[in-house]
Amino acid sequence: MSGLYVHIPFCRSKCAYCDFYSLAARSLDATAYVDAVLTELAARRDAYSGRFATVYVGGGTPSVLPPGELGRLVSALASEARSDAEITVEVNPDDITPGVAATLRASGVNRVSMGVQSLVDAELTAISRRHDAMGAIAAIAMLREAGINNISCDLMYGLPGQSPESFALSIERLLHEAPDHISAYLLSYEPGTRLTRDLEAGRISQATDDEAENYYDMLCGTLREAGYEHYEISNFARPGRRSRHNSSYWNPAVAYLGLGPSAHSYDGRNRRRANVASVRRYLAAPAHASDPELCETLSPEQLFDERLMLGLRTADGLDTSTLDPRFAEPMMRRAKPWISSGALVLDGGVMTVSERSWLIADAILSDLFAD
Ligand code: SF4
Repeated sequence: MSGLYVHIPFCRSKCAYCDFYSLAARSLDATAYVDAVLTELAARRDAYSGRFATVYVGGGTPSVLPPGELGRLVSALASEARSDAEITVEVNPDDITPGVAATLRASGVNRVSMGVQSLVDAELTAISRRHDAMGAIAAIAMLREAGINNISCDLMYGLPGQSPESFALSIERLLHEAPDHISAYLLSYEPGTRLTRDLEAGRISQATDDEAENYYDMLCGTLREAGYEHYEISNFARPGRRSRHNSSYWNPAVAYLGLGPSAHSYDGRNRRRANVASVRRYLAAPAHASDPELCETLSPEQLFDERLMLGLRTADGLDTSTLDPRFAEPMMRRAKPWISSGALVLDGGVMTVSERSWLIADAILSDLFAD
């Protein structure tokens, strides 16, 4: 089983918090870009046996591609996937029209991940999102009307000007739309972003640790009551609606092929590849985007740390009996204080981070790593 990822590093405008590598959509030659991705697919496809179980087109903003080109791309990807494959495209609400939604569905898309972030207009303005709350709600309706019934929405908390009441309102409005899946992230202030400059200049303030914890508790409690399963640090799903593609990233035995500039690939054992991170260089030679100098063979220590990092992100946890014993024994000694405090739970050899402690998972992991 393997997954297929395609990266579309273009956005119509820059969101105030975002430090991802992306180019202005006006510089995009969509036909040339889709041609390049399909060239790379043809060149690298044979290294992955069988049809892909999941396809994910992410970005950036894939929905900046003109509908015809996006449809051409997804149709070609879907032809390499199993008939029951999960085929996801990330979209921004303001790109969705009835025509775009119909094109997505006709090309094989059966899941959409939408960057909603908030359903309070002042908060969306504060982070330079192009849509408003009504636009996001309308986009969900258009996708459903077109027959796309598996919809995931991203939410953010700790936003400038956000309060517990306004966050509760966003959650309530979102739950009214009953998305199948919700990904929720604490705003982080990354170097070089407009929000970080505003923070440094004292124009806005950052949520304190207590406030962040309060938002997180509210999120977990409300979504639990609404029937969502909290199955990964940032991800909540209705029963049967976990993201199959993302779940495969958390399973070290699943290979994935990444296409497009800066996309990563993994062979399901110990080899990772990173594509060139430049659109210009990618377009010049897409079939050679991941030539050997960009390959990495993971050491036993790195593989052990990956297993920890991936397993402890999820509610399913990590089966410690399957870990490399050279590193597992000292790790278990370091884990003892975390187990005593209740942050880590060990049950029948399966280790999990308790839901309450997922906010400090990074600190726990750095204590457990072998490398
Ligand atoms: S649309 Fe997404 S990738 Fe593009 S700038 Fe906004 S957050 Fe970043």
